[in-house]
Amino acid sequence: MSVASESRYDVVIVGAGLAGLTLARHLLLYTDKTVLLLDKRADPPGPSQKVGESLVQLSGYYFSKVLDLEEYLLRNHYLKYNLRFHWPTSGKANQALEDYSRSFIRFSSNLATFQLDRNKFEEHLLATAREHPRCRFVGGVQNLDAKLNPGGPHRISFNGSAAECSWVVDCSGRGGFLKRKMGLAQSNNIRHGSTWCWVEGLVNIEKLTDRSWTEVRLSRDRMKQGNFPFFLATNHFCAEGMWFWIIPLHGITSLGLVYDKAVLDSDRVSTARKMLEFVCEKWPVFQRDLPQRKVVDEGRYYDFSYDARQTISAERWAISGEAGRFSDPLYSPGSDLISIYNTLIVDAIQARPADLKRKESVYELVMRVMYSAYVPSYALSYDCLGDRQAFTYKYGWELAIYFGFYVLPFINDLFTDEEFLPHFLRKFGLLGPINRNLQNFLSDFYRWKQAHVPPETETGMNDFYEMRWLRESEKLFYQVGLTREEAIETLDMHFHHLREYARWIVAQVYATVLGKPEIGGDAAFQERVKLRDLAFDPEKMRMDYEAMPSRAEAVAV
Ligand SMILES: Cc1cc2nc3c(=O)[nH]c(=O)nc-3n(C[C@H](O)[C@H](O)[C@H](O)COP(=O)(O)OP(=O)(O)OC[C@H]3O[C@@H](n4cnc5c(N)ncnc54)[C@H](O)[C@@H]3O)c2cc1C
Repeated sequence: MSVASESRYDVVIVGAGLAGLTLARHLLLYTDKTVLLLDKRADPPGPSQKVGESLVQLSGYYFSKVLDLEEYLLRNHYLKYNLRFHWPTSGKANQALEDYSRSFIRFSSNLATFQLDRNKFEEHLLATAREHPRCRFVGGVQNLDAKLNPGGPHRISFNGSAAECSWVVDCSGRGGFLKRKMGLAQSNNIRHGSTWCWVEGLVNIEKLTDRSWTEVRLSRDRMKQGNFPFFLATNHFCAEGMWFWIIPLHGITSLGLVYDKAVLDSDRVSTARKMLEFVCEKWPVFQRDLPQRKVVDEGRYYDFSYDARQTISAERWAISGEAGRFSDPLYSPGSDLISIYNTLIVDAIQARPADLKRKESVYELVMRVMYSAYVPSYALSYDCLGDRQAFTYKYGWELAIYFGFYVLPFINDLFTDEEFLPHFLRKFGLLGPINRNLQNFLSDFYRWKQAHVPPETETGMNDFYEMRWLRESEKLFYQVGLTREEAIETLDMHFHHLREYARWIVAQVYATVLGKPEIGGDAAFQERVKLRDLAFDPEKMRMDYEAMPSRAEAVAV
């Protein structure tokens, strides 16, 4: 059936950006719904380059497997090689990469992730949606309005015409069409800014060196780091409360600085050129490259993070993407949340009317929780980005949570399993206070280190998978096709591992603060750590540790 001239649709999607286009594809692939896709741009995405390119496991899986774009992605976008982090070394010139310490994961992710050229990706999605007989696209939409009718069809008007529909999904990005209309805006406590740009050609950090290419190729560091092209990673250059990303796209490179506004005055980085100058000062390795690069496009947000009061309703409206909530780009949760929200929205759109109220309450909770769980990572311990050790614990911990509580349910289609969700939410809820305590603890540890420990004067490197619990968590990628009961059991086991992991991290902090490396491997001590009562007070930590029964006694308890 062609819907090109119809004025009654099952779903109207406002906004043909990443969220709207992936939602349309999801609906067209898995349901029989008719879709009207509206965008204020005549021909989106338009000439400006779009930010938001780096995918992690969940969105990589959603785009490639659920939306069945694997071949398209492999042909047109770089496969991504994890995240890599770099820190300058005190006392060195830091004008060559060999002066920097680094943390990374050597093995490629078994769940494929990609560096997306957003414009190309969205052009492709729009072209395929337009070809579909159940989809109509209207660009250049003006004077958009929606009359939401809880008891009957909604009425959408634009460009002097109107359409009726059962569902309206707002994917209008920062335009926040429904959010504004319905007063759903809500702030959060992340006050970060970002300036970014794209430059011509590939910024390959391995070439920012005083070494010859042969020396780079034969470096003994490869015994630990391996040979995969490091430029395929999202490379992060880090400092307290800020990081600079390098993301390769075909023929251009995306560069961006994200910063806590408490540590950097936005005026210093208010344009791409100013930002690149700042980056060259902060991480001098870039002096040999970035000043000569041609900037092809740029953008900036003074303050980008916000919440929403509600994002799905039994009255048949929903919000996905930046039209609802957005936390922070570190770890790329933007596309992940789009993947989760779209999945829940498609399920709700297919539900019987009698089930909608129940789905609203469960799905709204899931949507809120999956966003809120990120907030402590960005609001409480962003300063840890300034220290490799503190950040290694922070990132390892967050990644292990992510593998178990985001990726595992997603690759088993469990986010729409209403019998699985109560158990999942209960366990995730139990993790909340532990996570907040640990984030505060690590932030305090970072501050303490800044005051008491001289910065590293030799470069170092670590593979995050050297942390046993994180390496174990990666095995969850292979737990696919689980029954609900198996998934619950796996999640319970993971929760148990996470608690052990958190205790191990606390022990490493004690070992550093008390100057007793043996604490790091002291299993009896780790068993006694009370994750809900963590407090970073070196004097109290010393007394607590000294008051502990001796190791032999403790093991006997
Ligand atoms: C600095 C920064 C870096 C980021 N990096 C990453 C990253 O590496 N990885 C990642 O996954 N995410 C990243 N993100 C997040 C990512 O950019 C967003 O998740 C994503 O762009 C949101 O897509 P969207 O479809 O919601 O919005 P958009 O892509 O902005 O699409 C919104 C669409 O709605 C249209 N529109 C707006 N108003 C109306 C209206 N009234 N009527 C009709 N149409 C309308 C617009 O024209 C547009 O086409 C980053 C975000 C920031 C701020």
